[in-house]
Amino acid sequence: MSASDTDRPLAFDTLQIHGGAKPDPATGARQVPIYQSTAFVFRDAAHAASLFNLKEVGFIYSRLTNPTVAALQDRIAALEGGAGAVCCSSGHAAQIMALFPLMAPGCNVVVSTRLYGGTVTQMSQTIRRFGWSAKFVDFDDEAAVRAAIDDDTRAVFCESIANPGGYITDIPAIAAIAREAGLPLIVDNTSATPYLCRPIELGATLVVHSTTKYLTGNGTVTGGVVVDAGTFDWSASDKFPSLSAPEPAYHGLKFHETFGPAAFTFHGIAVGLRDLGMTMNPQGAHYTLMGIETLSLRMERHVANAIKVATWLEQDERVSFVSYAGLESSPYKDRVPTVCPKGAGALFTFGLKAGYEACVRLIDAVDIFSHVANLGDTRSLIIHSASTTHSQLTEDQQRAAGAGPEVVRVSIGIEDADDLIADLGQALAKAVG
Ligand SMILES: *Cc1c(COP(=O)(O)O)cnc(C)c1O
Repeated sequence: MSASDTDRPLAFDTLQIHGGAKPDPATGARQVPIYQSTAFVFRDAAHAASLFNLKEVGFIYSRLTNPTVAALQDRIAALEGGAGAVCCSSGHAAQIMALFPLMAPGCNVVVSTRLYGGTVTQMSQTIRRFGWSAKFVDFDDEAAVRAAIDDDTRAVFCESIANPGGYITDIPAIAAIAREAGLPLIVDNTSATPYLCRPIELGATLVVHSTTKYLTGNGTVTGGVVVDAGTFDWSASDKFPSLSAPEPAYHGLKFHETFGPAAFTFHGIAVGLRDLGMTMNPQGAHYTLMGIETLSLRMERHVANAIKVATWLEQDERVSFVSYAGLESSPYKDRVPTVCPKGAGALFTFGLKAGYEACVRLIDAVDIFSHVANLGDTRSLIIHSASTTHSQLTEDQQRAAGAGPEVVRVSIGIEDADDLIADLGQALAKAVG
């Protein structure tokens, strides 16, 4: 989609509302309808055959494709600057869907040590059941990333802004390493969103999201998406036979040769969703389409509020540190202009000098902040990782993950910043005095 009378590409603020959507051809409905239908009637037998052969693109059965979900896929692909996108049932499903066409038993993925907690478990434990493995590396150590890549590596994986500790990945540097090795770089852009960070422009091949978070933005539905840049040459080596060679799971179709830049997306639908079944439902897609319409407005406010709250916390003598790349004090602030020029997100951690017990009292004393295991909501959220999400880890492991006993994590919402500061102020007074 481009502006009507010129070739000028549409801006983000326009695409977040119009991308992937046009008035409903059947009714003229202006908003994308919820196509709550499992199956779609074929025009005739020839139409059915050409849909099944992927000779024609259309709707067959909602495990594979659905018009409401398709609108969301097209919109997110447009916002990320990708060639195509496949929605799925959660962010974790998206990560499996991204790896699935690339991996085989014995293959590994080189991943950053700074990842969402659930992703650490998925990569370190669960994918082993598929015969895959992950090699965890400090992505600030470029030599270590290079050294970790071996003949069985099929992808490199990191987060743009990593949870929980205000870390920003040097995406251009990591993309260069992946490119030299002939491997795709997968970036989880959940905490940044395409408004703050554009991984494909920085060299990423695939972008994954938990749409559960900022893209939906209001804490209503679980979902995920895999976006493909459409730029990777899957046929340059023999490492990606599902895409470059005849795919036995689709009667020998050669996806890359047949679909070019759309190969990964077609494979994701025709094989990934068909056989793994991690499908997004149309009702969920509708909520996310609603949420995305205001993404840029929300992210601007999230970032402005996060800077205000973090700055206030940093000068408070009861606070031992604030770890947020939006602050001058952050070791990662130099990466902001390149990696996330519109801001470092709204997720950060801070420490209380008074330690574990004071953190627990703080969490119990807040009013506006909600104590939940989530992030990226319009509402401000707070959690004490050491007593919840990271309680199964040893203290050393907690510290390595940026979630030591004295650390509190917040996801700053879009309420009034002074109200948020006042709430933390009264809670700190109760927790510490
Ligand atoms: C929440 C989250 C996930 C997992 O997403 P779900 O939708 O909960 O499956 C993955 N990565 C990041 C960065 C997240 O915040």
